[in-house]
Amino acid sequence: MKYYSTNKQAPDVTLEEAVVRGLAADKGLFMPYTIKPLPQEFYDRIDTLSFQEIAYRVADAFFGEDVPADVLKQIVYDTLNFDVPLVRVTEEIYSLELFHGPTLAFKDVGGRFMARLLGYFIRKEGKKQVDVLVATSGDTGSAVANGFLGVEGIHVYVLYPKGKVSEIQEKQFTTLGRNITALEVDGTFDDCQALVKSAFMDRELNEHLLLTSANSINVARFLPQAFYYFYAYAQLKKMTATGFYPVICVPSGNFGNITAGLFGKQMGLPVKRFIAANNRNDIFYQYLQTGVYTPRPSVATIANAMDVGDPSNFARVLDLYGGSHERIAAEVSGATYTDGQIAETMRETWRECHYLLDPHGACGFRALKEGLEPGETGIFLETAHPAKFLDTVEGIIGEKVEIPAKLQAFMRGEKKSLPMSRKFSDFKKYLMAL
Ligand SMILES: *Cc1c(COP(=O)(O)O)cnc(C)c1O
Repeated sequence: MKYYSTNKQAPDVTLEEAVVRGLAADKGLFMPYTIKPLPQEFYDRIDTLSFQEIAYRVADAFFGEDVPADVLKQIVYDTLNFDVPLVRVTEEIYSLELFHGPTLAFKDVGGRFMARLLGYFIRKEGKKQVDVLVATSGDTGSAVANGFLGVEGIHVYVLYPKGKVSEIQEKQFTTLGRNITALEVDGTFDDCQALVKSAFMDRELNEHLLLTSANSINVARFLPQAFYYFYAYAQLKKMTATGFYPVICVPSGNFGNITAGLFGKQMGLPVKRFIAANNRNDIFYQYLQTGVYTPRPSVATIANAMDVGDPSNFARVLDLYGGSHERIAAEVSGATYTDGQIAETMRETWRECHYLLDPHGACGFRALKEGLEPGETGIFLETAHPAKFLDTVEGIIGEKVEIPAKLQAFMRGEKKSLPMSRKFSDFKKYLMAL
C-alpha cells in the first residue's frame, strides 16, 4: 500500500519508508491511499472472536499487502499480550480500560506494535542501527521505551524535562538500561521537543545516523490504536446482546487516538458518532464551533497528557474528511473541561459509582454524561491508570490509591540518566559521537 503526505508536496512512499521516516519530506503526515472496509461477516461474528483475532483482521486490512501474514500475526499477538476490558460504569456508560499494559497507558499498544514492525523492517533490509528519538512529558517515553526494550538494531533516546515528570513516570524509562538511554534535559518539555525537531532537520546528523521518531505522527504507532475500538464494540455486543451503535468518547491531546477510531468507522465499525473531550487546551473544540483552526501555546492542567496547543494529527482528521468542517462536525462533537470540573467528576464518580477515573478519562466520562441523548449508549476510553497520577488523584478523592504491582516493580529499579543541556549544539555533539 502506498502512503501520501497530507501536505501533498512529497512523493508517495511505501509502508516501510513511512515507518522509518515518520514524517514526510514536506513535513506532512503520512496517510494510506485506501482504507479497506471489513466484510459484514466479520461484524456479524465479531463477538465470538478474541482481541488478538480481531486485531489481526484489522491489521491485515492496514498492513497485509506489505508484511507477510505469519510475521504480521506474530507482531499483533506479541503486542497484545494484555487485555483491554470494557467495564460498565453507569446504566449507559462503559469504560474501555486501556491501562492493563506494561506502562499502564494506551500508548503501550502503538509503542509495542511500532517497535516490532520497525524491528522487522530492519532485519529484512539488513539495515544498520536505527536511532529513535522521543521527547516526552511522561506517558510517551515510558510506552516507547518499554515497547522497544531489547529490540535488536534499535536504540531509543528518551528526552525528558528534569524535575517536571512524576517519579513514577521517570522510573518507567530511566531504570531499563540495555538499548534505552534517558536524557535528562535541563529545560521544559518544549525544549525537549525542540531538540528532537532540530535533530531531524540537521543534515550532518542525518548523514551520520538513521534517525526516526516514535510519536503518534508515525503510522506504525497510530494505526494499531484502531484495534481496540473494534474489540470495544465486540465486548459491547456480547454484554448487551445487540451491540447498538455506541457513541465513543476519546480524551484527546494530539488526536492520534481518536483518528484511529475514525479510521475504524470508515472500515464499517458500527459507531453512531464520536466525542473528542479536551481539557482547557480546547483548540479542536473551538475549531468545531467556529470552523477556524487556531493553535495556541498549551496551558498546564491536571490532565497533562492532553496539554497540547497544536494537535499534530489534526492534519489527518482534516484530510480524512476532505478538509470539510461540515463533514467533520457531523461525525465528531467536542467538549472542554477545567481542572475544577475534572476533579469534581473524579470525586463524584468515585462516590456514586465507586469507579476511580484518572484525570484524562474523567474528561471522557463527563462528556458522555452531558452529551448522550436518551436511548444512546456511550463508551469512553480510559487512557491511563489513575495511580500514574498518584498525588493528583489522592489529593482529589482524599483517599490512598493502591499502586498496581507493575508500577511498584518500576519503583524499585535504579534511575540512570544522562544530564543534557537544552542547547542543540550540546545534543548534536552527543549524537555525533555515537
Ligand atoms: C497521550 C495521552 C492522551 C492523548 O492522546 P492523543 O492520541 O494524543 O490524543 C490522553 N490520555 C493519556 C493518559 C495519554 O497518555
